[in-house]
Amino acid sequence: MRKIEMVDLKSQYQHIKPQINSAIQEVIDSAAFVKGQKVTDFQDHLAQYLGVKHVICCGNGTDALQIALMALGLKPGDEVITPTFTFIATAEVVALLGLTPVVVDVSEQTMNMDIDSLRKSITPKTKAIVPVHLFGQCANMQQIMDIAKQHNLFVVEDACQAIGATYTFSNGTQKKAGCIGNIGCTSFFPSKNLGCYGDGGALFTDDDQLADKIKAIANHGMVIRYHHDMVGVNSRLDTLQAAILDVKLPHLDQYIKARQQAAQYYDNAFANNPHIIIPARDPQSTHVFHQYTLRIVDYDRDTLRQQLADKQIPAMVYYPVPLHQQKAYQDPRYHTGDFPQAERLAQTVLSLPMHTELDQQQLEYITQTINQILQ
Ligand SMILES: *Cc1c(COP(=O)(O)O)cnc(C)c1O
Repeated sequence: MRKIEMVDLKSQYQHIKPQINSAIQEVIDSAAFVKGQKVTDFQDHLAQYLGVKHVICCGNGTDALQIALMALGLKPGDEVITPTFTFIATAEVVALLGLTPVVVDVSEQTMNMDIDSLRKSITPKTKAIVPVHLFGQCANMQQIMDIAKQHNLFVVEDACQAIGATYTFSNGTQKKAGCIGNIGCTSFFPSKNLGCYGDGGALFTDDDQLADKIKAIANHGMVIRYHHDMVGVNSRLDTLQAAILDVKLPHLDQYIKARQQAAQYYDNAFANNPHIIIPARDPQSTHVFHQYTLRIVDYDRDTLRQQLADKQIPAMVYYPVPLHQQKAYQDPRYHTGDFPQAERLAQTVLSLPMHTELDQQQLEYITQTINQILQ
C-alpha cells in the first residue's frame, strides 16, 4: 500500500507531469515572470469556469481578503463579522486594517456561520459579513444575502476552501462559491482544491468598479504608471504559478469528483459507528471536500488521533482553537462559553486524509482501522 498522506501532491503531479513541465519551461523561455500572458489567460479561463465577470489574481488568499476589504473602503472602527471557527486569516486582515472583528458562532452540523448568531451580532457599526465556506461547503448564503440586503452590508466570501462548489438558491439560481457576495476570495496554496506550486490567490467580482479598484490596490494603488490614487499593496500571482494553474484548472471538476467519491466511501463506512458523526450536507450547496471532517462522540479525539498516527494514518485537527480563544485576538467582549457550538467543534473535530489520489486499499485500511478502534 502507498504511504497515506493528508494531501498527496506528488502522485497528483505524476499524472500531469509533461503538461506542467512544458508550461513551466515556456514561462522560463519567455522570461515574463511577472504579469506574463499566462496570468491573463488563467484569469479569463477561471472567470469562464466560475461564471463571474472578473477574476483578479494576487499573491495569496490572505492578501485577497485584505484587498477585498480595502476595496470596499471600510474605515477603522467599522465592524466586520466573521465566524469564530475558521482559519486565522479571515480575522487577521480585519484586525490589520484597524477594522473591528466581530465573531459569531457556527452551526455544529454544517460548521458554517450560524444565522441566529449572525443576526444578533449586527449593530449600527456593522459594514460587512465575511462568511467562510468551511471545508468546501458553502455557508448559508440564502440567509446571509437576505440579511446583508436588509441591513445594507457588504458580503466578502472566504472561498479559499471551496473553489468549484455550487450553491443553489431557493428560486433555482445557481452560483459558484465566491461569486455570490460583492467579492469572493480564494487561495491557490498547494493543498487547496486548486493549488499551485507555491503561493497564490484571487478575487472574484461581477462589479466593474470594484474590479478596477481591486486591480489598482493589488498594484500599489496605481492606475496610471507611477501615479498612485490610493494606498495599495504589492500582491500578484507569478506567471509560473498561473501557468501551472492553467494546466490544473481543466482537471478541477475531476479532482472534485475524486474527493467526493472518497467522502462517499468514508460516509458509508462510518454510517453505523455510534462514535462518529459524518459531515452534514447543506442541501443548497455541493460539498467539494477540501477537508473530510468528522465529529468524534464519547471518545477522546486526541487519543484517537495518536492511535491512528501509530498505524501510519495521518489525521489533523482543523481547528483546535476558535478565534475568540486565540491569544492574539483576546477581547474583553468575548469569553469562553460565548460560542458553544464552535467550542465543542474545536474539541471534537478530526479531519481524515482527503485528496485526489486516495485509492480503495488506502480507504479500506483507514476506515477499518478507525472502526476497530471506535467499537
Ligand atoms: C487557506 C485559507 C486562507 C488563506 O490563504 P493563503 O493563500 O494561505 O493566504 C484564508 N481562509 C481560509 C478559510 C483558508 O483555508
